[in-house]
Amino acid sequence: MASPSLTAGCPRCPAPVVLGVADEAGGGVWSCPEHGPVPPLWRPEEASYEAFAEHLRVSSSPARPFPTLLPWPLGPGWSVTDFAAVGQDAERARATMTCCSGTSALDGPVDVMIVSEEPGTGLGARCAGVDHPDPGAEIGLGAPTVKVRIDSQQVPLWPVSTSGMAGEWDRSVLAGEAHGRWLWLVLRPASAVLLLRDEWILRDVSGLGPSLVEMSFGGPRPPW
Ligand SMILES: [Zn+2]
Repeated sequence: MASPSLTAGCPRCPAPVVLGVADEAGGGVWSCPEHGPVPPLWRPEEASYEAFAEHLRVSSSPARPFPTLLPWPLGPGWSVTDFAAVGQDAERARATMTCCSGTSALDGPVDVMIVSEEPGTGLGARCAGVDHPDPGAEIGLGAPTVKVRIDSQQVPLWPVSTSGMAGEWDRSVLAGEAHGRWLWLVLRPASAVLLLRDEWILRDVSGLGPSLVEMSFGGPRPPW
């Protein structure tokens, strides 16, 4: 799969990937020096409307819809600063990520990353800065920290510990399960998790079409 505005990488680390021989389905096999054969991560050089439209093309198809989730509605002054998809093509999508950035009165600049992924993909863990590919045993234990809403479904989220992890970023990580996939939220700074006290609505924008034009794209994005 060639893409004009997205470049291929490893879902689990920043190492450059190489394209090897074609697999039985005719798609190239991408390989990471650290993780071996991986489904490719598709990421824009810079977040833009055109690149986002491309992102939706590679991550979701009518035959196999895969969600790309954004807080809805996006607050005034907030923009989509980053996004990514994992998978050989739309029929084999395994994960999507979006990052929205803006400011809140209490926290100043805030980044909110949302990852929807099949178990074992490892993109959520990379964005969260944790060393296990799936959220872990704390999911489902005790009362959830917050709930978000996706369509009519209420999705409980639990905290994922980041203590002792490399890269002492100031962040809060929450995870839960929605439609059989892991849902990760990574908020920076950590105190921004309080924004979620008002039950957020996450909208799948993969089928949204032209009204995406009204969204704002670009701006500084957090490292991950
Ligand atoms: Zn890798």
